[in-house]
Amino acid sequence: TLSDRLSGIFTKLRGKGKLSDADIDATAREIRLALLEADVALPVVKAFIFKVKERARTAEVSKALNPAQQIIKIVHEELIAILGGEARRLEFAKTPPTVIMLAGLQGAGKTTLAGKLAKWLKEQGHQPLLVACDLQRPNAVGQLQVLGGRAGVEVYAPEPGSGVGDPVRVARDSIEHARRQMRDIVIVDTAGRLGIDQEMMQQAADIRDAVRPDETLFVIDAMIGQDAVSTAEAFRDGVGITGVVLSKLDGDARGGAALSVREVTGQPIMFASTGEKLEDFDVFHPDRMASRILDMGDMLTLIEQAERAFDEDQKERMAAKLMGGESFTLEDFLEQLVAVRRMGPIANVLGMLPGMGQMKDQLNDVDDKHFDKVAAIIRSMTPAERTTPKIINASRRVRIANGSGTTVTDVNQLLNRFTEAQKMMKQMSGMMGLPGMGGGRG
Ligand code: GDP
Ligand code: MG
Repeated sequence: TLSDRLSGIFTKLRGKGKLSDADIDATAREIRLALLEADVALPVVKAFIFKVKERARTAEVSKALNPAQQIIKIVHEELIAILGGEARRLEFAKTPPTVIMLAGLQGAGKTTLAGKLAKWLKEQGHQPLLVACDLQRPNAVGQLQVLGGRAGVEVYAPEPGSGVGDPVRVARDSIEHARRQMRDIVIVDTAGRLGIDQEMMQQAADIRDAVRPDETLFVIDAMIGQDAVSTAEAFRDGVGITGVVLSKLDGDARGGAALSVREVTGQPIMFASTGEKLEDFDVFHPDRMASRILDMGDMLTLIEQAERAFDEDQKERMAAKLMGGESFTLEDFLEQLVAVRRMGPIANVLGMLPGMGQMKDQLNDVDDKHFDKVAAIIRSMTPAERTTPKIINASRRVRIANGSGTTVTDVNQLLNRFTEAQKMMKQMSGMMGLPGMGGGRG
């Protein structure tokens, strides 16, 4: 397995400080195999590995992880980014009904998905209508009616024996019906073939033109493997796709098809179907899929643990630093200002400090009013701004100035001097042991 292969590399790399090109190449080779074994299409794998190598070369050396772990982490993150980069919710039409059309090969799981989607939307307070436009497969209509019954959702279908065998007409009429019945969502189930087929694709395109869907969801069996690319391309070009649904994720497929389909269609994977029951359905989780494709659950857990342990370590050192007065946020600064003000006129306080001679220029600026102004400015900041002053952009500066009855120049001055003030406060805390100085923030 991949884990076995990688553990070999791991042993070799243990204790190495940084990623050499050879390390990157060796680990990338193994990851490449893992992706191919997970049925990710070759061109997709190539492009992906290229990107990962690039990032690995410029990655900062991590103290928590060894080189192989570091690359795996990059791969995992990149997978998540690609799988979920543009994750989004269903688009609802401005004027109901919202029309959702399902497309895909026969057996992909469209009809099952139609039932799941209807149930899910109904639970969210919508009034969906299911539409049976697969008039090809025997009993396809009956299958949808059973699912609709279970979901408690009306199914629009031609009357048996009515002679209406035209799925395009059924689709068109269903929209009228939905309007009359005040349904806000119409889910159109369509026919599929076992392979890509011109006639089927044309029918799907005709249904699309008849109902003008707000969403066209391409349903694809996660077990499809290497055929994922050509199938996705055919539906992308034949009907157009606005979103992807992966079905049969309960199977043992590693789900590499997900990555290929995402790349080929450029459309987000929106839902996952994980069984035959109506409840076996969820919005798509890129992180779960990334872990599944990599198939390195244990290793990813290990990486997470290593990083968390390192984080704790870092946090402790940060706290120690704060105790020493080296790192102040504006919040801390405000606290100190208030404490200093309580001691009396500021010039006197500062004047008592040894070594203040070097800070003469600053001392000249410092008077009580100035300190009060600074306090007012900081009080007009949000907590986030106080801890992370770099987010304070031009418009925030204006707001803060207005809020504190000062000018933008005052705010700018404060921010510019904050660094200098940090140094000053450090000296004061060191020399005078002011109350509240040791506050272990962070
Ligand atoms: P359609 O031809 O695209 O409409 O596909 P169907 O919805 O009829 O599904 C084909 C078969 O796959 C049926 O037997 C379903 O019960 C089954 N199926 C659909 N979705 C899933 C799924 O997520 N997991 C599993 N295990 N079976 C599924
Ligand atoms: Mg069907």
